[in-house]
Amino acid sequence: MSHVITEKCVGERYATCQGVCPVEAIHAADYNNEPFMIIDPETCIDCGVCLTECPIGAIVSSVDEDPKWAQINKDLVAKYKGSPKPPVRSPNDPPKKAVNKLVNVK
Ligand code: SF4
Repeated sequence: MSHVITEKCVGERYATCQGVCPVEAIHAADYNNEPFMIIDPETCIDCGVCLTECPIGAIVSSVDEDPKWAQINKDLVAKYKGSPKPPVRSPNDPPKKAVNKLVNVK
């Protein structure tokens, strides 16, 4: 099992999660030419530290919570593992997507 980055991250990519992961399981990716982050399910140790770091709640704690995006994370690992670290957006930076504005920003 693994934590999973969901559709909410597409087009947002705060990247606040990447720096807290103790095993470097989180990588920058693109999805449909939009910025995204993925979690490598083979590396993730399910520590949960990243969960609260995402200001828009884009991470879920199990594959069962979002099997579709779990598969997308997994499928993108081969292409994006070890990709350059992206700039980190401030958690106070308002979300770009309207749907994410419904979530309280830290
Ligand atoms: S749950 Fe822990 S190991 Fe897995 S991606 Fe998040 S911070 Fe990294």
